[in-house]
Amino acid sequence: MVVTDRVLMGPGPCNPYPEATAGLTRPMLGHLDPEFLALLDETCENLRTVWGTANALTLPVSGTGSAGMEAAFVNTVGPGDVVVVGVNGLFGERMCDVAGRCGAEVVRVDTPWGQPLDPEAVLSALVLADCVTSLGGIPVAIDDWDVDLAYSGTQKCLGVSPGLAPFTLGPRAWERRIPTPQSWYLDLGMIGAYTSGTARKYHHTAPIAMITSLHAALGALLDEGLQGSWDRHAECGAALQDGLEKLGFELWAAAGHRLPQLTTVLVPDGVDDAAVRRALLTRYGIEIGGGVGPWAGKVWRIGCMGHTARLRNVTLLLAALSETLSR
Ligand SMILES: *Cc1c(COP(=O)(O)O)cnc(C)c1O
Repeated sequence: MVVTDRVLMGPGPCNPYPEATAGLTRPMLGHLDPEFLALLDETCENLRTVWGTANALTLPVSGTGSAGMEAAFVNTVGPGDVVVVGVNGLFGERMCDVAGRCGAEVVRVDTPWGQPLDPEAVLSALVLADCVTSLGGIPVAIDDWDVDLAYSGTQKCLGVSPGLAPFTLGPRAWERRIPTPQSWYLDLGMIGAYTSGTARKYHHTAPIAMITSLHAALGALLDEGLQGSWDRHAECGAALQDGLEKLGFELWAAAGHRLPQLTTVLVPDGVDDAAVRRALLTRYGIEIGGGVGPWAGKVWRIGCMGHTARLRNVTLLLAALSETLSR
């Protein structure tokens, strides 16, 4: 079977950094090998830098961003607890689902998809932030912002394959955690006993190659500098949004609340959503994302994250769109 190279401009995965891809091919180490544990320690330490936190419990959860979401809820929410969720998109809906399965009384603060939430309306005791699409691409400051727990994913602005959920949990959340969460696999107390401390104990076999890959990508990210990465994502996002508007497209998210790393545009009237995405993929090797839920077929989601966030990719996509739509 043919394996093709693509420019990945959907809502994730992005193209991994070359360092991250090289990391996947390093010789395998055992998950308790001192060399691997040292690499894991450095990965957790670099994650603290990227998150902007001193939280001891900062680690890569095995699984994608949604595993991070689930870990956050099962470790802090029990039957009858009140959980306030701001819902202005797909992942707010998913949070309500996960919290409901933990037996929580879910209070939704709904805002139309694409509109910003009012932070005052969602204030609660512990603050959980979904940073799957933000970490590495725009500023995130867990300690300065007083966020109690947060999770991310590797395949978005961190520029790694999907498979890990960087996670951080602060002292207030630790105090209020569920001592024996329903989920054995995502029990952060037990996972933490493997990822840090002196008596490193087997919990589950760590995904060695993914952690080695994340370690390499974090090295590349910190060499570039967090500010450098944020600036690069900002520059690409601005060029993309500007270019799309010049081509006559209408941006979907409220002005002033747009992300540089993920741009949603309305599919123009009379344009066949699927046909355009197919043409981009087969003629130019570019993947972009379609809409989901109520917005299926009505919008495109164009990511510019991680290693994909390069001006050359923006230029390529704008030219390919303009050729495909004869604009
Ligand atoms: C992608 C994403 C998720 C889901 O992560 P998976 O890696 O697909 O499990 C959750 N929240 C946000 C904001 C995301 O962008």
